[in-house]
Amino acid sequence: MIIRKSPAELEKMRRAGMLVHQILDTVRGMIREGVTTFDLEVVADKMIRDAGAKPAFKGYYVPAAGTKFPSVLCTSVNCEVVHGMPSAKRVLRSGDIISVDTGVQLDGYFGDSAITVPVGEVSEEVKRLLRVTEESLELAIQQARPGNRLFDICGAVERHVTSNGFSIVREFVGHGIGASLHEEPQVPNYVDRRNENPRLKEGMVLAIEPMVAAGRPETKVLEDRWTAVTKDASYAAHFEHCVAITSNGPLVLTRP
Ligand code: MG
Ligand code: MG
Repeated sequence: MIIRKSPAELEKMRRAGMLVHQILDTVRGMIREGVTTFDLEVVADKMIRDAGAKPAFKGYYVPAAGTKFPSVLCTSVNCEVVHGMPSAKRVLRSGDIISVDTGVQLDGYFGDSAITVPVGEVSEEVKRLLRVTEESLELAIQQARPGNRLFDICGAVERHVTSNGFSIVREFVGHGIGASLHEEPQVPNYVDRRNENPRLKEGMVLAIEPMVAAGRPETKVLEDRWTAVTKDASYAAHFEHCVAITSNGPLVLTRP
């Protein structure tokens, strides 16, 4: 069942979303050569506590991993697609890209967003990977309107990414979000005809999150049981926003 949110609930989700935005904006400003991914974690963790919010990812349990996720941020560098864990040993170098994904629960409601940021100088092809992935998210957001269907969102990402010669990661998907971090429906970044294609209605909120590989799309999970990497070690980018479907069009809750 897809849970639709009232205007009062959307207002709470907006506040959670804006906290996520502020965290990502702060972290983005810190990213440079020599910084460790744990430096980012420390600042984000403090911002969440200072706001009276709870981290959505820290303590999150997934049976396949068999452990609780240890951090408030997912920091995924280069070929890491998602669920990388901050570490004081992971020093950022010029030429890297880092995806930072975070979620919070504030006043009962969740926000969830991700950005991918270049470190120092990256190649033109890597810049294009980041640009195309972010553009695919914006094209998908534009489809988040009453009367459209889920596949309009999925297809917008898929068309833009594949027509630019990059690959859609298929093992991880976006999701509904609200009083739970992960609600129905799943939001794949490609049209999956095995799934239902519900009509989009006012009050639905979707976390849309294209994950795009420069090379082959297949991923594997590392020994740490969380970090997902591309099998061919090609770079991967990830951008995410929470979007409410309203009669006035798409309302992005995770940016001003
Ligand atoms: Mg996320
Ligand atoms: Mg998400």
